[in-house]
Amino acid sequence: MATSARKKAHRNPIYGAKGVVASRLRQRKHQLARRFDIPHVLLGGSLNQVARQCGKPTCRCASGEGHPMWTLTYSVSGRRHVEFIPDMLVPMIAPWVEEGRAYRDALSEIQAINAQLVTLWRKQKRARPRRRRSQK
Ligand SMILES: [Zn+2]
Repeated sequence: MATSARKKAHRNPIYGAKGVVASRLRQRKHQLARRFDIPHVLLGGSLNQVARQCGKPTCRCASGEGHPMWTLTYSVSGRRHVEFIPDMLVPMIAPWVEEGRAYRDALSEIQAINAQLVTLWRKQKRARPRRRRSQK
């Protein structure tokens, strides 16, 4: 990997996170992605902009509407998490969230289509009188 590419990777939260937990998570991700041929950069959650007071009593936000900030809301094993996202990361994360949503929609649609195809096949089987081989 070129130096500039490595530097970039460390600025990417998905590849830049260090430690045992991060590498275990990445390993599991690659295992699942390989098994089901899933794109690696999908993110389940929602990005929202919120207004937050910084806490400094002299800041204009103390009496106003607060500073606009981005949050990522997501769930792991039924537990909801809210993480503040620095503005500079939003352009990187937003497409992952969008891809994640599109992927989940596509997955549901594929499953529904296959179920519909089974039903169609069954109906056609019932409707069409059975042909004998000799007629063909
Ligand atoms: Zn403030």
